[in-house]
Amino acid sequence: MTNTPRGLRPHIVLLGPRNSGKSSLINRITGRELAIVSDTPGTTTDPVYKGMELLPFGPVVFVDTAGIDDEGVLGTQRVSRTRRAERGADITLYVTSGTMTEAERRYLREHRTDLLVAVTGRDSRGAEAPVTAELRAEGIAVLEVSNLTGAGVEELKRELISVLETKREQERALLQNMISRYSFVLMIVPIDLEAPKGRLILPQVQTIREILDADAATLVVKEREVDWALSQLKRLPDLAITDSQVVQKAAGSVPPEIPLTTFSVLFSRLKGDLARFVEGSAMIDRLEHGDRVLLAESCTHHAHSDDIGRVKIPRWLRQYTGKELDITVQGGGYPDDIGEYALVIHCGACMLTRKMMLSRLDEAVAAGVPVTNYGIAISHLHGLLDRVLVPFEGELRPV
Ligand code: SF4
Repeated sequence: MTNTPRGLRPHIVLLGPRNSGKSSLINRITGRELAIVSDTPGTTTDPVYKGMELLPFGPVVFVDTAGIDDEGVLGTQRVSRTRRAERGADITLYVTSGTMTEAERRYLREHRTDLLVAVTGRDSRGAEAPVTAELRAEGIAVLEVSNLTGAGVEELKRELISVLETKREQERALLQNMISRYSFVLMIVPIDLEAPKGRLILPQVQTIREILDADAATLVVKEREVDWALSQLKRLPDLAITDSQVVQKAAGSVPPEIPLTTFSVLFSRLKGDLARFVEGSAMIDRLEHGDRVLLAESCTHHAHSDDIGRVKIPRWLRQYTGKELDITVQGGGYPDDIGEYALVIHCGACMLTRKMMLSRLDEAVAAGVPVTNYGIAISHLHGLLDRVLVPFEGELRPV
């Protein structure tokens, strides 16, 4: 469980005014002192992400946030980081001590999807707080809990689990509508400098698992062994999936009658919005001298000599466009001047949930900046985008 990456764990974001009991409630739900609790308002500053197992559901992340009523220059920055965390929430758990402002009520009315309200001042005699009845009457899911005694916390956990299980049933699969029983899939996996020692990376492992779950079969080879492997087969694969970085080599080896796509395209569809990423990639052809391009990575990691974001994509972009581009690579959130960029090329988002990736997509588009991602940009830059989209023809809007 402790190894489950954050991108595969639903995020439960606790939101509410300062001192409403968010940190205490996290500690109550988890049964551990995960969050710092203090009577001093504003103890939680930046969002704090804590992975834990919510049994019997499984691994989740609780996100403790600063109060949404925080004030001053620093307070405003904290609220903006809280809002960013909220946009990536699979469930928002709004925590109130029972007294609510009109602005809070309005917020709850406008954000009732995937929202649960916890009123922390539960009365020991069971008398319902006026705000509870009021919110229920408006169709908002609300539960009363006591951070002091723990009363109501088990009920709240059951409610969280029930919402999470419903969401899990609705989740789409990586290879949705692409394979069935006895399908045969060729996977092309380079083992280069970027490959972790002794293991496969998450997208590859996830794909293998889905193939096995579908009672199908896979053959995994490096790009140099594709021709040889195909020559050994009695039947051609129904589908070929390659790492984007070797898409050119793969496209040369895999016969055109075998649908070919990339792990990145599969993840764009699972984690983001494939159609919007494809539309965004058209901007590559309109880039002009001096345009700023942001390569946005969700994590900060150690760059090596042939790094995909720092070396390969900038090189391919300059070669393809023939333009002098101002290219920035940034890990973590977007820069404040995101609107100044001509294009955002986002990483594969393997550590992000779908909700988080969609919120990052929306954030850039709201600033008027087209967004694509690494895998789609790479296929575009190699003139192979049409080919790797063939398996999804029915799903894409005409561009
Ligand atoms: S692809 Fe993005 S989310 Fe995945 S490890 Fe790289 S930077 Fe992090």
